[in-house]
Amino acid sequence: MEALIPVINKLQDVFNTVGSDVIQLPQIVVVGTQSSGKSSVLESLVGRDLLPRGTGVVTRRPLILQLVHVPSDYGRKTSADENDLNAWKNPKHFPKGVETNEWGKFLHTKNKIFTDFDEIRQEIESETERISGNNKGISSDPIHLKVFSPNVVNLTLVDLPGMTKVPVGDQPKDIEIQIRELILRYISNPNCIILAVTAANTDMATSEALKIARESDPDGRRTLAVITKLDLMDAGTDAMDVLLGRVIPVKLGIIGVVNRSQLDINNKKIVADSIRDEYGFLQKKYPSLATRNGTKYLARTLNRLLMHHIRDCLPELKTRINVLAAQYQSLLNSYGEPVEDQSSTLLQLITKFATEYCNTIEGRAKYIETSELCGGARISYIFYETFGRTLESVDPLGGLTTIDILTAIRNATGPRPALFVPEISFELLVKRQVKRLEEPSLRCVELVHEEMQRIIQHCSNYSTQELLRFPKLHDAIVEVVTSLLRKRLPVTNEMVHNLVAIELAYINTKHPDFADACGVMNNNIEEQRRNRIARDVPPPAASRDKTAPSGSTGDGVPDAGTGNWRGMLKARGEEAPVEERNKAPPTVPVSPLRGHAVNLLDVSVPVARKLSAREQRDCEVIERLIKSYFLIVRKNIQDSVPKAVMHFLVNHVKDTLQSELVGQLYKSLLLEDLLTESEDIAQRRNEAADMLKALQRASQIIAEIRETHLW
Ligand code: GDP
Ligand code: MG
Repeated sequence: MEALIPVINKLQDVFNTVGSDVIQLPQIVVVGTQSSGKSSVLESLVGRDLLPRGTGVVTRRPLILQLVHVPSDYGRKTSADENDLNAWKNPKHFPKGVETNEWGKFLHTKNKIFTDFDEIRQEIESETERISGNNKGISSDPIHLKVFSPNVVNLTLVDLPGMTKVPVGDQPKDIEIQIRELILRYISNPNCIILAVTAANTDMATSEALKIARESDPDGRRTLAVITKLDLMDAGTDAMDVLLGRVIPVKLGIIGVVNRSQLDINNKKIVADSIRDEYGFLQKKYPSLATRNGTKYLARTLNRLLMHHIRDCLPELKTRINVLAAQYQSLLNSYGEPVEDQSSTLLQLITKFATEYCNTIEGRAKYIETSELCGGARISYIFYETFGRTLESVDPLGGLTTIDILTAIRNATGPRPALFVPEISFELLVKRQVKRLEEPSLRCVELVHEEMQRIIQHCSNYSTQELLRFPKLHDAIVEVVTSLLRKRLPVTNEMVHNLVAIELAYINTKHPDFADACGVMNNNIEEQRRNRIARDVPPPAASRDKTAPSGSTGDGVPDAGTGNWRGMLKARGEEAPVEERNKAPPTVPVSPLRGHAVNLLDVSVPVARKLSAREQRDCEVIERLIKSYFLIVRKNIQDSVPKAVMHFLVNHVKDTLQSELVGQLYKSLLLEDLLTESEDIAQRRNEAADMLKALQRASQIIAEIRETHLW
């Protein structure tokens, strides 16, 4: 596996930066019948004596052997594994005076360091006994062992109990099924290479190992067949056919090996000698196949499989690194350069903010919001939708009852009976209605002010991200803009208040639109009135003549069509009494002391009172006039309030923002303080720069791997 070490080492560097596990080397799992030589095969792959081997049931618990590569000059400073580094550094756990860079650790012995591999094997044995008993019992509870060495690659090997048929010792009746399930559990992992071990002195055609391997890998894409004990074949037989795949073909290959016999183990024959002897044996017995068999070839084949695996993973890793690099690059950019010229930086940032603020209002912002309206668009929405709609929904006669109108008329008339509907009552009432426009108008100012406030946030969040580097400057800018806005608020409110006040100051009944409306209305009202009278009570010709007041046309239509609104307010003399005579008398008694208005207001259910025809007509007239005049004023307000808000608030802030900011913040005394970079950002910039460098290096490493290791 040594060939893999440099590649894995380099990749390890990459992983250390990317912190990813895109490339996980496959687990290598050995399967086969009992005593077929599984543990021996694994051990020769690792190149160290560390596993218990022998005749009968030896491996009775799964052993998950995790190989961890450590640099050969490991010393006591670096480690591939953070936790183990600590253990290593802790002199309590590491035996004194031991100079080695190979050691092992068990999960169940916590921090204990094993530098003697014989001791490791003993620990496996005693730990097996502890759980599985000493009478051939088997447990599916795995033993976890980590071996740290400069001579291994980061790889996980799994040694499993061998398949068996007949229970012995403490083994349960269904031992066969239990072991099968245990094996299947491990080899069904798609990221595992199956080493199906079969002893050469058994019949390959009945190989349980290949049979079970095929169950979870039917295509044979991750199964490698290993034939052990080539040295133990009966005299006169050889494994030629088996090794050539004539008995059972195996896609990835069939590799024959000679491991150490029990005698070799007893004599403590070292792995190197065993491999040399194996080579000699193959040369002698299978000269034509010698180069394609043996432990070394098995290791090379595994190497190749792992390399293929790595190669398959590299493109994804490369993409990942490139994406990350791009992300860190833009992150780094967003943190900006370290400040060199403070005053120009300050000016630049202020200007940038002011520009962005204005741009957001103008709709030219760099970052256009898509989730909601913002800036100028929102202001326009406030003007036309929020404010406009609200005004339109204000009922011209809202809050005004017929009783109110009548009361006003009567109050305006005073003690004398009036010939005309008094003009003052119209003014009184229409002013009351117009006043109702003030509140939504002021609300409009408030909304725009709020939005202007929000734009500050928008600008510092999205547009001038560099500002976040300097929290004090950011706060100062926010403060200046906020106070500028606050300063403009009363001025704007005052103006809007005045706009309504102006309307209230003078009721221009000569307004051309109003005069027109009066003319049209006059006709209509008269029309209706005549119709109604004709329908209800056809007045006798005599009374009609009598009631016609001077200045009216014969049939009682006052100045109809002249467009003179005064005509509409004219009371038609004695006509009312006539009608009142004809109709039912008022149900409300008139108090001689307090006058009509008081009486009307005293009525607990005003609508119950039947109005006289004249009262009804007067009300109608006033209502229509109010409506007509109100609409004119509303239109004015609808038009002028946005203009006022724009002039006094929005444009003013836009125009003075830059100079205000410069005036308040661009002071040499403040420079140092305002441009104190947040420590957070300074640190993050360094981190991002480091990460970017590491990623660039990682990308370079990958390129090197792809170039130098020809697959
Ligand atoms: P496992 O039960 O499949 O793990 O088998 P082991 O690795 O424990 O080996 C069982 C026995 O077979 C041990 O005594 C080994 O020494 C012996 N053995 C394994 N492989 C070979 C081989 O290739 N040749 C010889 N002569 N003996 C072997
Ligand atoms: Mg074994």
